[in-house]
Amino acid sequence: MNQPVKQHLIDPEICIRCYTCEMTCPIGAIEHDDNNVVVDPDKCNFCMDCIPVCPTGSIDEWRVVSTPYSLEQQYAFEELPEQDDIAAEDDTPDADAEAHDRVIAELLADAHSGAGGRATAPRSASKPTINMYNPSAPACMTVQGNYRLTDPEGDNDVRHIILDHGSLPFPVLEGQSIGIIAPGTDADGKPHLPRLYSVSSPRDGERPGFGNISLTVKREAAGVCSNYVCDLNKGDEIEVTGPFGSTFLMPGDPEMHLLMICTGTGSAPFRGFTMRRQRETPDTRAGLSLFFGARSARDLPYFGPLQKVPDTFMHKSFAFSRPETGDGHYVQDLLRQEQERVVRLLASDKTCIYICGRRDMEQGVDAALSDLAATAGLDWSELRDEMRNDGRYHVETY
Ligand SMILES: Cc1cc2nc3c(=O)[nH]c(=O)nc-3n(C[C@H](O)[C@H](O)[C@H](O)COP(=O)(O)OP(=O)(O)OC[C@H]3O[C@@H](n4cnc5c(N)ncnc54)[C@H](O)[C@@H]3O)c2cc1C
Repeated sequence: MNQPVKQHLIDPEICIRCYTCEMTCPIGAIEHDDNNVVVDPDKCNFCMDCIPVCPTGSIDEWRVVSTPYSLEQQYAFEELPEQDDIAAEDDTPDADAEAHDRVIAELLADAHSGAGGRATAPRSASKPTINMYNPSAPACMTVQGNYRLTDPEGDNDVRHIILDHGSLPFPVLEGQSIGIIAPGTDADGKPHLPRLYSVSSPRDGERPGFGNISLTVKREAAGVCSNYVCDLNKGDEIEVTGPFGSTFLMPGDPEMHLLMICTGTGSAPFRGFTMRRQRETPDTRAGLSLFFGARSARDLPYFGPLQKVPDTFMHKSFAFSRPETGDGHYVQDLLRQEQERVVRLLASDKTCIYICGRRDMEQGVDAALSDLAATAGLDWSELRDEMRNDGRYHVETY
């Protein structure tokens, strides 16, 4: 008998045949005929992108099977088959793991919603591994270091955390996130919901080849998970899920220019992007632009190391909203100040835009990009849609 596998199915009795799931699926695993909408078991990679967009919930059906239902069988379904006994033997679909995957899918869909439509990975991006570890089978990692990145006297506590996964495989690409569930229970006695944290190291690890990843985590006042992570000590064990995210990825093509706009911990994926380029194509010139906003230099994670990246490798611009002297500026002000550079990048089909960090940066950045595009006779909403569909416009805010 085959090893039992989990299969994604759609309930034909509830589905209203709107085909939103089919349009959303990034890998063409969902299709339909006149009768049913079905999921190709050979293609579905459980990315969960289709789950939040379904208006009826008919998409959220799973069976453990020894032989997956074929497309022909699914097209003939009048109703979903019952879960057969195989589930009782061992691999019962784990309700906790499924609830976890659903929460993650919703968090990601919300974080990426600022792109104004469904984001697509850059064409030359490497294929990401997703959903490899879940709460039933998490990746156990050991804390290798926990360093404060911001002024110890200030109230903004951002940490650089290094997690060691040793020989356990944890294939993660720059721009992907991991899930962490704080121990303990919430006010209703239920386990805490997972939180997502961007990986801030490149794919070969914080220290290449040593099986480790880094995170950039800000302590939120009374925040459940950020306090748990920021208080971890060297040698502590932590359970991690993921990796997650299949679109906020960097292009493999070194000719592509990355225009990175961030605030606070939104710098995490950009640290990974920059380190990847430094390791892979160190001789590339003028391939990266970073616009970074923080309250002050003392509140800006990685300010020191960033200053050391040569300007010929990455153009850097910092905005401080509460500087020690002078007037405050926001990241959108920087974009306007550097009109010539930004307009040139907007007009080029070799530019990928990434916006990451605080949700409240979106509006100002969007307005600045719109005004700047207009100076070159470009319609920003058209350009933005075109870039997004081409895998060149990405937003991740929280
Ligand atoms: C794709 C993605 C990537 C992310 N990457 C990062 C990253 O790299 N680094 C990072 O630091 N964060 C990141 N985040 C945010 C992170 O997932 C968490 O949301 C963040 O750490 C806060 O979680 P928490 O459990 O500490 O706070 P929570 O417990 O969720 O609380 C959040 C805030 O709400 C307040 N709050 C909670 N309950 C109440 C209440 N009942 N009444 C009033 N106020 C309340 C808390 O005081 C806190 O300030 C990312 C999020 C997403 C979606």
